[in-house]
Amino acid sequence: MKRISDVIKNVSIPINTGESDTSSELETYKCAICKDRQWLRVDAEPGHPNFGRLFPCECYVREREDRLAGELFDLSQLQALSDMTFANFDESVPGIRPAYDAAVTFARNPAGWIFFHGSYGVGKTHLAVAIANEVLRSNTMGVYFRVVPDLLDQLRATFDPEHGVAYDERFQQIRNAHLLILDDLGTEQTTPWAREKLYQLFNHRYNEQLPTVVTSNQDYKHIDQRILSRMLDTRLSQRLFIEAEDYRLTPGPR
Ligand SMILES: [Zn+2]
Repeated sequence: MKRISDVIKNVSIPINTGESDTSSELETYKCAICKDRQWLRVDAEPGHPNFGRLFPCECYVREREDRLAGELFDLSQLQALSDMTFANFDESVPGIRPAYDAAVTFARNPAGWIFFHGSYGVGKTHLAVAIANEVLRSNTMGVYFRVVPDLLDQLRATFDPEHGVAYDERFQQIRNAHLLILDDLGTEQTTPWAREKLYQLFNHRYNEQLPTVVTSNQDYKHIDQRILSRMLDTRLSQRLFIEAEDYRLTPGPR
């Protein structure tokens, strides 16, 4: 990845120059707008506030988003979970339908928070992962999915109070994911450090109203009350309580 300052140094792209490219010349560029230079200079008179200013071309913005989405995917645990989809979820299990419908609707247009709450083995994780896989299938959003204790391990692995750069970057990347999915909230070790990191993560996404999916099989008393109050704020979040039987124990074909 080039630094932006290096990119700018190398670029001088007038737009609206009236130059006419022949189609054969255009075919040699991946992006006909900027001719692969990724930056565009606005055609403005000296003295105009935009005189000499450079703007990223849409191809650059798209490439950057694709790269960030790829990095986030690599940081997530989704590689191993690509077979958990809505198609192979048994929504006929009694009690599961409202959660299933909410998950499908959310996956079509991720907005707000969705909190799947219920006992172990009722399909919460499957629904959460199915949302991730559906979103990844239909657009290039950056999606991050992790079991909460593993998320904290991942953050801890890069955390060094002396040289926090790698950690800061990673934490920023995760907390700003287009879609964040955290599985099994409440099962993590509650060290002061872990509590604080999780709270910062949730609080940021709450303040920015970023699409977030959470699952938990824990009593409310095992969840940080500051996080819980945000997850139960009906202005942002919908809670789906799942009372289904353990669907993995249900006999018969899926
Ligand atoms: Zn371009």
